[in-house]
Amino acid sequence: LDVNFAPYINFKGEARGVVVVLHDITEIRRLEKMRSEFVANVSHELRTPITSIKGFTETLLDGALQDEEVCRNFLQIIYEESERLNRMIHEILDLSKIEQKRITLSLERHNVGDLIGNTISVLQEQLLRKQLSLQVEIEEEIWLTTDKDCFHQILLNLVSNAIAYTPEGGSITIGAKRAKNMLAIQVADSGIGIPEKDIPRIFERFYRVDKARSRDSGGTGLGLAIVKHLVENLGGDIQVNSREGVGTTFTVCLPFQFHTPTANAPQKN
Ligand code: ADP
Repeated sequence: LDVNFAPYINFKGEARGVVVVLHDITEIRRLEKMRSEFVANVSHELRTPITSIKGFTETLLDGALQDEEVCRNFLQIIYEESERLNRMIHEILDLSKIEQKRITLSLERHNVGDLIGNTISVLQEQLLRKQLSLQVEIEEEIWLTTDKDCFHQILLNLVSNAIAYTPEGGSITIGAKRAKNMLAIQVADSGIGIPEKDIPRIFERFYRVDKARSRDSGGTGLGLAIVKHLVENLGGDIQVNSREGVGTTFTVCLPFQFHTPTANAPQKN
């Protein structure tokens, strides 16, 4: 609590009392704390790939250049780490835009099967590389009024994770069905699963169950934080069910009737 007080003096210059102003600054402090923690996290996360790029470059300059195989190996790591750095910077900017609701939604009617198809088409190569089977289950033709790019980003992040955290030869299922006035989209995998104690934290920025595994798969720890905010921007919610060693299912529910808070609202002055 922040307390300000000042004597109250009337026009004759007589002291008549004290004006006390109480500010509840708990919320401000909390936001400040969150912001400084975020900056600390970002700096730490950005430093990790930079340290690795620097280290491998120095070793090359110190003489490892002579050995062609070592050289190729190191350059590959440097390339991958710079890609990750690039992805991280983009995702940090995306996340801050989404969080501050600085994205404009373009709401149009889309066929859900087509939307899912669009996302799968960019993931074909990764699916093939890990020999994962992908099944799409849609009971009927469904049309949804939504933002195509947001929908794509949500599904892309969820299916990319399913690919990253499912061992070779496993299976992934994408399902879409009506549930009351919502559309339920499920992404299920037969992967490594998430320990129960970690489930409440996986939507936090930079939270990863296993940092090394996430890094090996090119992860940034921001994918699910972005998904959660996008889903909320679309007026929906997301849930997860998982068992270690068995698999994980993410369920996204999006309303069929989506109204932006200000859309169609009567204007009051
Ligand atoms: P990352 O870039 O590390 O994948 P995300 O924010 O997308 O970051 O996910 C956070 C963490 O949640 C991951 O590091 C991983 O531990 C866990 N996770 C996400 N999706 C899955 C999944 N389908 N199966 C198992 N673990 C998952």
